[in-house]
Amino acid sequence: MHLRIEKLSTLLANQIAAGEVIERPASVVKELVENSLDAGATQIDIDIEQGGMHLIRIRDNGSGIHADDLLLAINRHATSKIKNLDDLAEINSLGFRGEALASISSVSRLTLTSALHNASGWQVITQGTESDPQLAPAAHPQGTTIEVRDLFFNTPARRKFLRSEKTEFEHIDELIKRIALSCFSVSFTLKHNQRLIRQYRAANSLAERTQRIASLCGEAFVENALQIESVAVDLKLSGWIGLPTFTRAQADLQYFYVNGRIVRDKLVSHAVKQAYHDVLHGNRYPAFVLFLEILPSQVDVNVHPTKHEVRFRESRLVHDFIYRSLQDALVKLKPGEQTVTFPVLEMETVSVNPSIHKDYQPRKESYSSFRPSYAASPVKIQEQAAVYQQLALETVEQPAGTPPLGFALAQLLNIYILSETPQGLMLVDMHAAHERVLYERLKKTMQENKMKSQPLLLPLTVTLSEKEIRAIQNHLTIFQQLGLVIEQMSQGSIVVREVPELIREGELTQLIRDIAADLVVYEQSSRLDEYVHHVLGTMACHAAVRAQRRLTLPEMNALLRAMENTQYAGHCNHGRPTSKLLSLQELDKLFLRGR
Ligand code: ADP
Ligand code: MG
Repeated sequence: MHLRIEKLSTLLANQIAAGEVIERPASVVKELVENSLDAGATQIDIDIEQGGMHLIRIRDNGSGIHADDLLLAINRHATSKIKNLDDLAEINSLGFRGEALASISSVSRLTLTSALHNASGWQVITQGTESDPQLAPAAHPQGTTIEVRDLFFNTPARRKFLRSEKTEFEHIDELIKRIALSCFSVSFTLKHNQRLIRQYRAANSLAERTQRIASLCGEAFVENALQIESVAVDLKLSGWIGLPTFTRAQADLQYFYVNGRIVRDKLVSHAVKQAYHDVLHGNRYPAFVLFLEILPSQVDVNVHPTKHEVRFRESRLVHDFIYRSLQDALVKLKPGEQTVTFPVLEMETVSVNPSIHKDYQPRKESYSSFRPSYAASPVKIQEQAAVYQQLALETVEQPAGTPPLGFALAQLLNIYILSETPQGLMLVDMHAAHERVLYERLKKTMQENKMKSQPLLLPLTVTLSEKEIRAIQNHLTIFQQLGLVIEQMSQGSIVVREVPELIREGELTQLIRDIAADLVVYEQSSRLDEYVHHVLGTMACHAAVRAQRRLTLPEMNALLRAMENTQYAGHCNHGRPTSKLLSLQELDKLFLRGR
């Protein structure tokens, strides 16, 4: 059999193209809001109904669209943003592919109304069918309104992939948050089912901008973040980075923008991770909101349909610039200092509106001579000492013979226990070991339903995001099971009254924050069963003795004996080994000692 080739209809071709960029209502909102930003809007109003499945309406006060261009705007490969190949190498706008409106209109009923300055308004309506849309006059102030109704009504297979109204709206909310984080000079309102959910007012002064960051990322982040600004030739990095003491269990507070466009980039993540490498414990994630500005010709944004990824021409240089800028800022922090005040240098406006980049002037400094500078923001660093827990290791009877892990001799650099066994020298990572011991103990206690809690002398208030509080509310039973008694949930914070005996006050705030952040993630992926063990692991990690804490010999021996009586004691619950034997033979070889 031989199948003949046929040209696809425009509608079908657009519907196929829509598959690439329009995954869900939030993708529509992203494309439309980016168009409004490209049009220079300073006020963008977003109306959502039923999670965007019924209606998405975006109204802006941008430049508007010429009446003669309205029909063209909804055609594929039609754009006002680039004209030739040279323009493609130097993108100054968020959009440029000329596909969004065509794609969206092929999978929904779209109404586009627009007016230029001092001109009358015009409107086109499409019905997601082959029939030609018509142009008609319509009243509209300068700017553009786009209504998208019944998304995927004509592509039922795609509609099936949509989640609940609530989930879809949460995606939109998160998206607007990401955009609002970078476009300080634009006011946004977001309504769901006619209710005003968010209002972000234009933030022009540093105080207003900090306020916006606080409302988007939480007060705690702003209080525990450094503001940085670092400039090199053709490059500028600015924004807020979390202190090493304010870390997350998930990579959920990481926002990186390249010329105002949010990106997820391996190179960037790597540079940030490396900068934090020496100051972060184990699997913690730093928090940051960072803006990289770079000459448009130095970055290729046309590598991904949704433009979430970019490619840098000089990737090594960009990597090292980010790494060195952050590292310089972090190195200046000394543990134990209560407050660090940074030299006050004038703070430039964080220009994230892409149109500003047109007159972006490269600095004269050479790349190698850049130094980050810090804007004024006194920073509190929690007293490190309080972080280290008292050891909850009881002294145990030491056995008569030589136990497998031997007897402790000393502690090396406050990290390793050195222990003597008949086979040689045993090295034990005391944090990893203690963590494993506690984890197994917690698992057992919980299986036996014996988790005991202890009231706190002073109830502890923890500030959290709305989303996190909602997640906690939905899963209060888990907390009870774990022995964490939480009450009085109000806007932005919760109060902890009782905690499991194994957990002391020192790191409680962090623990609660971690659990909350995790819950938000796990709730979405519905892996709650695994989650309880995960929490136990987190608890164990927090309660375990941290590296840097000096132990007495009896404490060390108690830990060794506990390890011997614990399952899986060879690895901590992150999979790192807990001990390593340097055998006599190995030592002999090392010293060229024949036997
Ligand atoms: P692109 O953004 O890649 O150019 P779109 O399909 O998103 O492609 O939009 C097509 C064109 O319609 C844009 O190039 C722009 O000229 C115009 N346009 C779309 N939305 C707006 C808006 N909100 N304000 C002004 N012009 C708009
Ligand atoms: Mg666009």
